Amino acid sequence: MVVVMKKNANENQISRVLFKIEALGSKAHLSRGNIRTIIGVVGDNSNIEPGVFESLDGVERVVPLLGPFKLASRDFRKENSSFSIDGSQIGGKKIIMIAGPCAVESREQLIEAALAVKKAGAVALRGGAFKPRTSPYSFQGLGEEGLKILAEARDIVGLAIVTEVIAPEQVSLVAQYADVLQVGSRNMQNYALLNAVGESHKPVLLKRGLSSTIEEFLNAAEYILSHNNPRVILCERGIRTFETYTRNTLDINAIPVLKSLSHLPVVVDPSHGTGKREYVAAVSRAAIAAGADGLIVEVHPDPENALSDGAQSLRPQEFENLMAELRPVAEAVGRYL
Ligand code: PEP
Ligand code: MN
Repeated sequence: MVVVMKKNANENQISRVLFKIEALGSKAHLSRGNIRTIIGVVGDNSNIEPGVFESLDGVERVVPLLGPFKLASRDFRKENSSFSIDGSQIGGKKIIMIAGPCAVESREQLIEAALAVKKAGAVALRGGAFKPRTSPYSFQGLGEEGLKILAEARDIVGLAIVTEVIAPEQVSLVAQYADVLQVGSRNMQNYALLNAVGESHKPVLLKRGLSSTIEEFLNAAEYILSHNNPRVILCERGIRTFETYTRNTLDINAIPVLKSLSHLPVVVDPSHGTGKREYVAAVSRAAIAAGADGLIVEVHPDPENALSDGAQSLRPQEFENLMAELRPVAEAVGRYL
């Protein structure tokens, strides 16, 4: 349940509610909005009567939450969550473009990609240093050397860094270099990893699991939020269906569904969503029209020789063309790139 405080509730009244929640054996999550404070009662609160809070001074109302996720829910927070990624605001009117290669392969490759995506208007650089590959014999990434190259690219080019972390014990290492921690599709239900990125207090880009329902996806986000890390970005990256012509089936439905169920920003990955570069532009336009807050796109200076995901990676010129194509679509839905 959520305790909604009155507009003029004072600190004493808020503290009394927090104290009561703890005394009843639950955890309190405080969210101070511009207008009023709301307090989530987290944990098993099935036997707590709303009346125990309604009778306290400063409480306006108590809203029972029936859904399985709380902190991620629009019932907990009505307004969109919006936060800064190294100076760029996600969840506002601007559509955030994150672009770069699937994997960091070398200094030259990454700097070339970074310069190109920056010039085209991206605000963040993606690139995996730790790659969770389906086959153990595929390129697994450069590890910490890759993180150092990413940090160098940030210094040279001035883009925020989004990179994947695949194990809980690596979170503190990756957090030293990254501006946003990516949790990949294969790890969406790795609860130890979700807890660890929750503790890190870095923004987290959480990718939807290959075969996960929206409820499972939002519950995964709930793990991170429950560690008092509010900066979670949901990423729809395509799901597994019977269709084999494309690598995955990008679930356009997920965008309006997530936006209505949750206040968290939603980013779409048209590269993994299709697996083929020729479809990336069409699906990107659709995602923005459907309400996505940003895109994460794979761009490689030489896709034919990429060590991973070359077939879905755009060339720099194609990314520049994509940006130009997306601007009028963003404007048509009251946004900008
Ligand atoms: C990636 O972003 O390169 C990646 C591995 O994505 P996903 O986890 O969505 O497969
Ligand atoms: Mn990839």
